[in-house]
Amino acid sequence: MGPDVRDIKVSTCPGCGACLPEIAGPTHSYMTSSAACFEAFTDVLAFEYSDSALLPTHRLTVDTFAVQHGGGGETRRQVQSTGLHLARLYLQLGRNLTPQDSNNVMLGLGQYKASLIYLAPPQSYTMTVSDVRPFAGGPQHATKVREWAKATWADWQDHHAYIQDWTERHLR
Ligand SMILES: [Zn+2]
Repeated sequence: MGPDVRDIKVSTCPGCGACLPEIAGPTHSYMTSSAACFEAFTDVLAFEYSDSALLPTHRLTVDTFAVQHGGGGETRRQVQSTGLHLARLYLQLGRNLTPQDSNNVMLGLGQYKASLIYLAPPQSYTMTVSDVRPFAGGPQHATKVREWAKATWADWQDHHAYIQDWTERHLR
């Protein structure tokens, strides 16, 4: 007899809403995610660390996961993390900067992070890391991450104007 499916508990991630089989495991120190969601994220990262061709994709993965798990503004660290990762998504997707260029720009923008305000996250997300993990390490890895990043940036549309303005104001 195999395990009864009724015994498998599903966990809903408090950050992105992904429904995954519940597991016991580590989560990030300040990003709010279920253990199962964090495991899916680290699975995707593992493929990116082992393939230098996926380095540009890696930054999008980190930014997208971070803005989906920034919590409810409980700490300044979360507020700043969410704001900075949204700014980097804007640079890569809204301004089409290369990942390397957007990274260099971010190093300068980081010094203004104290001015970032809390941005209430979207009610729900179109895609989560659970939609990407099945493709991790395969030929569609980069495409799926980009799809996830673009959908997530679109989900944050209520705050596009703020992020765009904050980023452009501090660019020089
Ligand atoms: Zn999640």
